[in-house]
Amino acid sequence: MASDYDVVVIGAGNAGLTSALTLAEKGRKVLLLERHNVPGGCATSFVRGRFEFEVALHQLSGMGTDDKPGPLREILRELGVLDKLEFVQMDDLYRIIMPGVADVKLGASREEIISTLKENFPREKEGIEKFFDLVYEFCMQMIGGVYMHDPDISREKYPLYFRYALRKSKEVLDSHFNDPVLKAVISPYWSYMGIPPSHLSFSDLAILLFAYIEFKPFHIKGGSQALSNALLDTFLQNGGTARFNTPVDKILVEDGRARGVVTGYGEEIISDYVISNASTISTYYELLGPEYVPEEVKKELGRSTIGPSAFTLFMGLDCEPKDLGIEEATNFIGTSLDMERTYALSKTLEKPEMGLLSCYDVSDPDFSPKGSSQAVFVVLQYAEAWCNIGPSEYYDTKYRYAGFMLDLAGKAFPGIRDHLEEVEAATPLTHQRYLGHPGGAIYGFDQYAKDLNLFMNKKCPIDGLFFAGSWVDSGGFQPTLTSGRQVAKVVIKDMESKGVPR
Ligand SMILES: Cc1cc2nc3c(=O)[nH]c(=O)nc-3n(C[C@H](O)[C@H](O)[C@H](O)COP(=O)(O)OP(=O)(O)OC[C@H]3O[C@@H](n4cnc5c(N)ncnc54)[C@H](O)[C@@H]3O)c2cc1C
Repeated sequence: MASDYDVVVIGAGNAGLTSALTLAEKGRKVLLLERHNVPGGCATSFVRGRFEFEVALHQLSGMGTDDKPGPLREILRELGVLDKLEFVQMDDLYRIIMPGVADVKLGASREEIISTLKENFPREKEGIEKFFDLVYEFCMQMIGGVYMHDPDISREKYPLYFRYALRKSKEVLDSHFNDPVLKAVISPYWSYMGIPPSHLSFSDLAILLFAYIEFKPFHIKGGSQALSNALLDTFLQNGGTARFNTPVDKILVEDGRARGVVTGYGEEIISDYVISNASTISTYYELLGPEYVPEEVKKELGRSTIGPSAFTLFMGLDCEPKDLGIEEATNFIGTSLDMERTYALSKTLEKPEMGLLSCYDVSDPDFSPKGSSQAVFVVLQYAEAWCNIGPSEYYDTKYRYAGFMLDLAGKAFPGIRDHLEEVEAATPLTHQRYLGHPGGAIYGFDQYAKDLNLFMNKKCPIDGLFFAGSWVDSGGFQPTLTSGRQVAKVVIKDMESKGVPR
């Protein structure tokens, strides 16, 4: 049977969009199928009253500036969307507020950070210098050896990389610092990986710090939905076809090879290549069926655990940020120095003790209607506790938890409750519903060291079926946008090697 399309892409998240666009731009006939009614997956927005709330993007990594472009800027340029978007650089990395304990603002340059930390923690001067030297030297070796695919990579050539890559971040923090406040101030980015320092590999913490310092944190005018829309528009301009409100229910397999998909409306679409931006779990067990899951894949999936989702409180405020003392776009607010406890609480419905409050209006005064602003306050939350409550308890639990979040936000910004004009809350079950991912996971599997990209087998044993996104690469915008582009290149190579005509 002749193919309807060269490639079918399941899901229009970051990776689905970049893979579809890369293929269309190379002249391939691509169909993008998305179950939701908008493109983006996590990278979307929604409207309540006069506010358009950002769902996911707090800080975009890897952009860099025109003078010093980061890897993501290059990818967006190649994809033809860079000039269609306006990126807003955030002046600082973050402010961390632990009422009664610390209130520290870290700028977005190495020198500034070191001098702020030395000023606040004079007894730890030496450790601070050494820690940032290590972060930088380690990252240079990781980039040279791993990211640049040095064929001669060896322990002798990249000693720091081999020594530290899989060390736990907590061990490295403990070996440099004594003050628990300093350790908390320096490491809140662990929450961007969803794994506490006791389990987070040093390579993850180091590259997060390095990337945000060197390439600066960014936001996008119009939010992440503007990026998703630009990727979709460019895909359509390149001849791609997209259908929304169209879930894929089944992947067709013939003689051990992907042969297309069946949509939720029962329509069979024939294609020799399928890229899935859905979770690997649902792709294997729901779209293919357990009979097609090879033993090695069952073992691999069985070794991984589903990562965290989030609870987000979206607040539309009837005042400007400065009226509440919000001076930074990115604010970590915490009442505990114990990061392990903070993480443990993400598996319960108890009061959270650390969250991230973003106020985009600080770096982009036009983000919300004049005289108003929005604050998006997020904490990591695993889905299990939410799945264990009955439907009749769900709304009470959700609003009680939203109350906890407001209390926590109020500790840093008293009076925030009095300025609420619109409020919406999203639980892990909300994310599960909109993304279709198990546990509403926002970064795919837990990002333990053993699940680092380095060790992941991304090759699907079923010919013609490929994965892109947070379930096979790291979660986050930069990794997933990159993931889609990379998998599309692998598909193009495969087509060329088989002489698939354009
Ligand atoms: C609250 C929150 C805060 C975050 N903050 C940041 C941040 O500041 N910085 C950062 O870098 N990252 C952040 N992230 C993480 C980041 O947004 C995600 O890791 C990333 O967007 C995931 O992209 P993805 O390509 O894996 O696809 P996803 O966004 O997971 O989308 C997958 C898509 O596939 C579709 N789909 C699934 N199954 C089917 C099917 N059967 N048929 C058709 N379609 C299907 C879904 O509807 C969805 O659109 C945040 C996420 C959230 C939710």
